[in-house]
Amino acid sequence: MTDVKKELLYTGKAKNVYKTENDDEVLIEFRDDITALDGGKKDTLSKKGAYNALISSKFFKILEDEGILTQFVKLINENEMIAKSLDMIPLEVICRNIATGSLLRKYPFHKNQHLQPPVLQFDYKNDVYHDPMLNDSIIIALKIATEEQLQQIRQITLKINKVLSEFLYERGLILVDFKVEFGFDKDGNIVLGDEISPDTTRLWDSETHKNFDKDIFRKGEEGVVDAYEVVVNLVLNDEEKQKWNID
Ligand code: C5P
Repeated sequence: MTDVKKELLYTGKAKNVYKTENDDEVLIEFRDDITALDGGKKDTLSKKGAYNALISSKFFKILEDEGILTQFVKLINENEMIAKSLDMIPLEVICRNIATGSLLRKYPFHKNQHLQPPVLQFDYKNDVYHDPMLNDSIIIALKIATEEQLQQIRQITLKINKVLSEFLYERGLILVDFKVEFGFDKDGNIVLGDEISPDTTRLWDSETHKNFDKDIFRKGEEGVVDAYEVVVNLVLNDEEKQKWNID
């Protein structure tokens, strides 16, 4: 426990969010818990929280450098991030470059079909309703976001896809698909929040198409944390590895 932590504001499936002394900032703790199948499959895996915090911080920094507003402020510990307070929008914005996962279960795409332009999907982040897919009309009628805000969310998500796909491809990984979440900052800007990590993306080796993401856990296979460690090693530079004691 660091002394920055104050009152617990929110506890999710893999993260806790605490109030800090600064009302404009929160502390996000990345826990070692991992869940899948709508919470039906659970485990606690040492180092998983730290690896996700390191990877997510790196991605958010890269995106900030490309002009995308993110929640990231700084990492104060390997699994604790100071982040801007956001009023989160209850949408899971999913972007897909290759057809796999639930897309194949629900629609007649070919396995591993390349999706150009990428397929964007909005799911309602709501445990009671089990995250149903929404369309623009429902989002606007539920007052989750306006048409203009949705358009902005689409543009930012496609830019995230482009920036991270290029960064990862140079390191031997394909960004197959991912989920992002956004919130409003105190000035009403739409800001990338939550995390982008192997828990929320599909990352494939560009040669072998081997997974380096949560699908390993979803499939009940061993080695999920080892795979996340490979991703940490691929994305962090030498200075960052030294700082966080990554071999
Ligand atoms: O399962 P599905 O194929 O719909 O997942 C698409 C992408 O969104 C995957 O990268 C998955 O990890 C991510 N996702 C997520 N959280 C969810 C649903 C999907 O991070 N609740």
